[in-house]
Amino acid sequence: GSGGSGSSQLPSTAMSQSGEERLVVAVRVRPSTEPNNNKCIQILSDRALLFDDGSKNRPRKYVYDFVFGESSTQEEVYKTTTAPLVKDVLNGLNAAVFAYGATGAGKTHTMLGPNPKKAGTPSSELPPKTAQSNHGDGMMVKALDEIFQHVENAEDSSKFKVTISYLEIYNELIRDLLNPGGPLELREDNRGQKITVAGLSEITTCSRHEVIQNLLKGNKARTMEPTAANKTSSRSHALLSVTVQNKTPLGTKQGRLFLTDLAGSERAKKTKNRGKRLQEGAHINRSLLALGNCINALSGGARYVNYRDSKLTRLLKEALSGKCKTVMIAHVAPEARHRDETKNTLVYADRANHISTRLQNAGYIDETQNIPMKHYQNLVSELREEV
Ligand code: ADP
Ligand code: MG
Repeated sequence: GSGGSGSSQLPSTAMSQSGEERLVVAVRVRPSTEPNNNKCIQILSDRALLFDDGSKNRPRKYVYDFVFGESSTQEEVYKTTTAPLVKDVLNGLNAAVFAYGATGAGKTHTMLGPNPKKAGTPSSELPPKTAQSNHGDGMMVKALDEIFQHVENAEDSSKFKVTISYLEIYNELIRDLLNPGGPLELREDNRGQKITVAGLSEITTCSRHEVIQNLLKGNKARTMEPTAANKTSSRSHALLSVTVQNKTPLGTKQGRLFLTDLAGSERAKKTKNRGKRLQEGAHINRSLLALGNCINALSGGARYVNYRDSKLTRLLKEALSGKCKTVMIAHVAPEARHRDETKNTLVYADRANHISTRLQNAGYIDETQNIPMKHYQNLVSELREEV
């Protein structure tokens, strides 16, 4: 079928073979919403797909670490992309999962779960159990479940402490999603080594139910503004941070997992953004640009990585530096009418993917191979031209 990798093929390729590998790239195709079969994507295997750009050219083949088709399940995506990182975090390492893609391509579905509004029945009318299993099956919830399970099964649960925070970055302003209010400031301690958000609320519970309720509530508090592309376009990055501390006889181990639902990667042109919307677009792309630059520099083993260009990268510095594994799940829509955005995302993911494979082979990236940077620079100049 088109369901991506089955349970018999557990993650091995990119993650465990090479300690050097920093970025794993997966592409997930969301189910088509159109009855006709006018699609621009065809799944070839667990790792490859064909993209038809609508011209007379032959469809192009793209290969990634993982490809998840329209019928892929949350469980499959979790097992392959996020579960290996959860193991690392429980062992005291840092890790990050990014959901990338245009608005409507399925980022929030992957990270949090199905959209309750679209489920047919208003969520308040669903029995609590159903509501829970429907809305809480994304990477954020599954990762928390596994962490809580681990703590519960531990010989002495009291040696563990799990701390959760959830925030959004909107127009370079940080807002608390667990306790919405005014913008919060970034604080730097120890000469910029440790970055915290002043006044950000933290939950230290191991109650699955309580956390899911908080995540769903937090997601509702996200800044949604209508654009031409989508009525509830997320113009903000949502960042869930889960810190696990484990007191051992040798000291306290601490691992941190960042799960990020990035703002839509669509360009201003398509969404006909003007004024405020356009400024948002510029901010969003500034963060995505900075993130891409960091991942790029880290993948190349650069001695200096510039995290300072955006709030997103400053916040993620801890996760991205040191022994951190990063997974990008790039989301695309299969319908032919979304061809342009789908192509942009496939190309972005392809370039990101190339960094990691080239890394494995050669161990460095030179200037001319530094494609993502150029890609972003082009994007920024395009945006500038539009202003
Ligand atoms: P994004 O967060 O990228 O803007 P959403 O996650 O909100 O996109 O997805 C857009 C719509 O498509 C939502 O109604 C969502 O429930 C649906 N959808 C997305 N991905 C899937 C999927 N894998 N399976 C079923 N429905 C999906
Ligand atoms: Mg979303």
